[in-house]
Amino acid sequence: YHSTRGRCPAVSFDQALLQGFAADGGLFMPHPLPRLSQDRLDQWKHLGYGDLAKEVMGCFIDSSIVPRRDLSRLLDQSFAPFAKADPPILPLDRDGQSWVLELFHGPTLSFKDIAMGVLIRLMDYFLDQNNDQLSLILATTGDTGPAAAYAAADRKRINCWPLFPAGMISPEQELQMTTIGVENVSPVGVRGCRNGGDDLDRVVARLFGNAQLRKRLKLSSVNSINIGRVLMQTVHYFYAYFRLVRRLGETLYFSIPAGAFGNFCGGEIARSMGLPIRFICATNKNNTLHRIFSEGIFEKMSLQRSLSSAIDIVVPYNFWRFLYLRSNADPEIVNRSLREVEQRGRARFDDEL
Ligand SMILES: *Cc1c(COP(=O)(O)O)cnc(C)c1O
Repeated sequence: YHSTRGRCPAVSFDQALLQGFAADGGLFMPHPLPRLSQDRLDQWKHLGYGDLAKEVMGCFIDSSIVPRRDLSRLLDQSFAPFAKADPPILPLDRDGQSWVLELFHGPTLSFKDIAMGVLIRLMDYFLDQNNDQLSLILATTGDTGPAAAYAAADRKRINCWPLFPAGMISPEQELQMTTIGVENVSPVGVRGCRNGGDDLDRVVARLFGNAQLRKRLKLSSVNSINIGRVLMQTVHYFYAYFRLVRRLGETLYFSIPAGAFGNFCGGEIARSMGLPIRFICATNKNNTLHRIFSEGIFEKMSLQRSLSSAIDIVVPYNFWRFLYLRSNADPEIVNRSLREVEQRGRARFDDEL
C-alpha cells in the first residue's frame, strides 16, 4: 500500500488499515492494482455477494496477512446481521434499462454498514494479534456514525468516538448513536459547525496531523480515509455488474451519489482492475465534483445544506485517490495539485488529465 503523496515507505495491508492516514498525510492505495483476466471474471459471475466479497477482498489482502480461512469467517460474521444475504436489485422502469442496487439492508439501514462491518472486524482481528488497542475518531453527518458505533459495539480493543455537527443530523440517527448503550462508544455532538461535516473532517485531519497525539491516543479513522472502506466498496460494482449484464464485456453505467467520493473510488478501482463500467457522478448543490469533471477546476466552496445531507460535502477527499489512479500512480501530480489548492485555493487540471 502506497501513499498518494509518495513521501513515506509502502506498508502492508494491516498497517494501512490500522493507520488510516499515511504518515505523510496522504491516503493509502493498493499498488500495483491486480488486473483481472476474463477467466477470473467468468469464475466470479455466478457468486452471491458474500462469496464474491471473499474473492475480491482476497485480491487486496495477502494470505500471509489474513489467511483465507480467517478472511472468510470475518466476512461471514460481518454479513450475519443483514436482513438479506444478497443486496436486492430492483427495476426502475418497464424496459429493464435502469435498476437500483439496494445496499441498505444492514443493521443501521445505511449502505455504510457493509464496508464498516468488514473494516472494523479486520481492525479488531489485527489488534488481537498485536495485543493492542485503538481509538477510532470519525466525523459523521448521519450514516457513518451509527454504522461505526454498531460495528464497534462491545469490541474490547476499540474505543469509538463518532463526532457529529450538533443539530444537523436526523434525530433518528443521533438516537442510533446516543442510545446504543455500550461503554466503548462515545458519540459527541459538536456545536458551531457552520460547514457541517467538513468542519469535523478538518478537526479529524488536524488530530491525525499531530504525530505525537496520534501515537499516544492510538488514533485511527474509519471514514473513507481508510482504504479498507474503499476496497470493500469495489464489491458492489462487481456484484451488480454480474447480475445485470447479458454477457461479460458489455458496458454498465453506475450513477453514484458522491459525498467524500469513497464509494465512487471503489468503482474506479473495480474499473481499473478490468471491469467494463462507466460512471455518472451525482451531487447536490455542493458540487465540487461537478466542477472538477466539467471545468477541470477543484475549488472549495462554502457548504450549502440540503435534504441529501449524506452528500453535503465540499471537500471530496477521495478525489486524490482517483487522481492518483488516473495519473498512473504518480504522487507528484497529486502533490502539485494539493500545493495549488493550499496556495491559491484552487487547482486546475489540463484536458488530458
Ligand atoms: C455516505 C453516503 C454517501 C456518500 O458516499 P461517499 O463514499 O462519501 O461518496 C451517499 N449517500 C449516502 C446515503 C451515504 O450514506
